[in-house]
Amino acid sequence: MAEKSFKYVIIGGGVAAGYAAREFSKQGVKPGELAIISKEAVAPYERPALSKAYLFPESPARLPGFHVCVGSGGERLLPEWYTEKGIELILSTEIVKADLSSKTLTSAAGANFKYNVLIIATGSTVIRLSDFGVQGADSKNIFYLREIEDADKLIEAIKAKKNGKAVIVGGGYIGLELAAVMQINNYDVTMVFPEPWCMPRLFTPEIAAFYEGYYAKKGIKIIKGTVAVGFDSNSNGEVTSVKSKDGRSLDADIVVVGVGARPLTSLFKGQVEEDKGGIKTDAFFKTSISNVYAVGDVVTFPMKMYNDVRRVEHVDHARKSAEQAVKAIFASGDGKTIDEYDYLPFFYSRSFDLSWQFYGDNVGDAVLFGDSDPASPKPKFGSYWIKDGKIVGTFLEGGTPDENKAIAKAARLQPAIPSVDELAKVGLAFACKI
Ligand code: FAD
Repeated sequence: MAEKSFKYVIIGGGVAAGYAAREFSKQGVKPGELAIISKEAVAPYERPALSKAYLFPESPARLPGFHVCVGSGGERLLPEWYTEKGIELILSTEIVKADLSSKTLTSAAGANFKYNVLIIATGSTVIRLSDFGVQGADSKNIFYLREIEDADKLIEAIKAKKNGKAVIVGGGYIGLELAAVMQINNYDVTMVFPEPWCMPRLFTPEIAAFYEGYYAKKGIKIIKGTVAVGFDSNSNGEVTSVKSKDGRSLDADIVVVGVGARPLTSLFKGQVEEDKGGIKTDAFFKTSISNVYAVGDVVTFPMKMYNDVRRVEHVDHARKSAEQAVKAIFASGDGKTIDEYDYLPFFYSRSFDLSWQFYGDNVGDAVLFGDSDPASPKPKFGSYWIKDGKIVGTFLEGGTPDENKAIAKAARLQPAIPSVDELAKVGLAFACKI
């Protein structure tokens, strides 16, 4: 069988791989030294677009428009860019075996790839309802969203079931974004999730109340406190309804499930140290094996600010961890060191004409400020999270770029607050003065 050797191999061709490639180029990688091996058929792109503009009925985002690194305002790396730089993009190739002792990866087609240095950037995969044996979960027109292929299948169904009914299972950001785009596609939308409010891992009940109120205004129905326990289908095997644990039956032409993701670490099980479900690395994204690095969704890394180790499934960290790892690889080659990764968590989402950003840690007491009335013509509000008298987390809906910078700075600098009442009254102006 075919065998190819590279100095550096990145396994996975998503966000982290694309940003790593750009950093490799900046660091002066030579033609032929680097390969990216990806299961996907296209060059690295900004994955968040898949649940947003990619699904719009009018002027949808399409490749090559959103290849990395446009999402962070950088150069767009078209497939030709990789060719020009002598970076080999090995697409539509799934690695099914990784032997870290012989430094060999094997593809599903049986090809072997050898490397000196490996970067693991396999990201996450969706959690499926069929994993829990939910009855009827493999019916047609039940969709999950991770890769461009998934989004393309959903678009075909949106067209085929025109103006139909959609049920969104899951109340996280994927559920919220999907509910919005399905409504924009003129679907009658119902969301179902077990928690008492949407985005419970981040939102306070007050923040959630705004989004739920706003969605209700758009005609989206939200059923909370129950789960999907089964699906009915017609003679073609297409889903027709979702059954909930509390005894409802919700008509559905399309179901989109967003119930979480799982890091893709299985190829490396028993070969590298793991922690908290991810591949454990140091502050330079080096794993327990010295020539193997891991970046993006798969890694559990030291979160210096909070003296903790964490795994983060957000695009900003995918970009920054990739850059840090490549810088560290080149620095160590030159016998130099670089600063430790000092990450400030950052997460955002957009739906309808809403847009929020979150920075820092959502621990301690939350202090809401601003106008969070979903009926307002121009709602704008936020929240601070306060711990030991200091701001540790910040959230803002509808911020300008400068205001978002200000809340990021507040979460980074963790200033002491005057009093909770005063902070609630001053609101955003407090962060803007730091
Ligand atoms: P990925 O981008 O998932 O890339 C992993 C790559 O590895 C894929 O190409 C995959 O096919 C490939 N791969 C996996 N296993 C193998 C194998 N065995 N062989 C070969 N290739 C393999 N984050 C935000 O902060 N804000 C958002 O608004 C937001 N929106 C999102 C919307 C959607 C629909 C999704 C799915 C994610 C969103 N995220 C968002 C999360 C963000 O996209 C991820 O955190 C980010 O993509 C992680 O980058 P990564 O490179 O680690 O993994």
